[in-house]
Amino acid sequence: MKSFDNSIKDFYRDLARISMREPRLALHFARTALDQREAAARRREAAEAGVQVPPFMIMSITRRCNLRCAGCFVHEQDRPAGNELTMAEIRAILSDARDLGVSIVALAGGEPLTRPEIVDVAADFPEMLFPLITNGSLLDDALLDRLQSLRNVIPVISLEGLEFETDARRGDGVYQRALNTMARLQERRIFFGTSLMVTRRNFGLVTSRRFVRDLVGRGAKLFFYVDYVPIKAGTEHLIPSQAQRDAEPLTMLVLRSEFRATFVASSASEAEYGGCMAAGRGFVHVSSEGDLEPCPFSPFSDTNLRQAPLRVALQSRLLRSIRESGEHLSESDGGCALWAKRDWVQSLMAAPEGAPEDRAA
Ligand code: SF4
Repeated sequence: MKSFDNSIKDFYRDLARISMREPRLALHFARTALDQREAAARRREAAEAGVQVPPFMIMSITRRCNLRCAGCFVHEQDRPAGNELTMAEIRAILSDARDLGVSIVALAGGEPLTRPEIVDVAADFPEMLFPLITNGSLLDDALLDRLQSLRNVIPVISLEGLEFETDARRGDGVYQRALNTMARLQERRIFFGTSLMVTRRNFGLVTSRRFVRDLVGRGAKLFFYVDYVPIKAGTEHLIPSQAQRDAEPLTMLVLRSEFRATFVASSASEAEYGGCMAAGRGFVHVSSEGDLEPCPFSPFSDTNLRQAPLRVALQSRLLRSIRESGEHLSESDGGCALWAKRDWVQSLMAAPEGAPEDRAA
């Protein structure tokens, strides 16, 4: 079974390969690949001390958003958008994450650019990579100027397909605005990508050569494919079929061999690593209030980073129980293992009281 660490290494190698025509960018990715190797050594050190540190972290820095997409998993959770981590708290968490060996931090939301100051915080961690998962509609010239001076923050524009699919879910005009943002990023030679929510309906379209060729031609160099999770009741029929999920790993390989871009698919990765990578196995999620959760699609937590440092929180009872649960992490017919088994995850929350065992202190 392939290790997630090796995939992170491959990912950096891919980034350097596809930016060869921009020597300074290629040099930056090559240097970050060295930083990533040191980070991997820190992760191994922590593991020897009993602390499981994932190479990848997702930070949802806000629940606020200027759009109202159908079935948005943030809005479907219907949790109040208050008490967000301050930028100083986010900076402290990133500092802990860097010191523990986390290499990549995806900045998400809500819409992360409703808090544009996050770009300045990320700038202070040049050894880490920050995919910025955005709907692309708030990237103004001032932000583009800032991003042009940075190489460790990568805008990743969310799409659902072409105009029909994207506007149907995200609202009229969102697709054209996203293309306009891509054109401005390309003009400024800023490295960027796209994030695609994969459903049973759009699988064929968003993995097609025609679709990919169009976006590569617009300058996209990074493609994240995230399988649809039916947070909204009654939308289970949109989950990609087993046949589609089985086809993903090979589809990613073929696209990677044909286009000067890199392709990452959530369920393809899980197939490769023996199941769901949440709860710190490969990645972990920080909610906008600082809760450390297994995954954005598994919004449960027994530890908050305002009360416990990351090193301790990663050893929380809930996260450890999920990591050590073996068969529960294999995907079921419902796609996302932890969403399909949310009752089981919730039952773990009912475990006896008490703070996470301070094994690592
Ligand atoms: S842009 Fe993202 S966070 Fe905002 S409504 Fe759409 S899916 Fe939700």
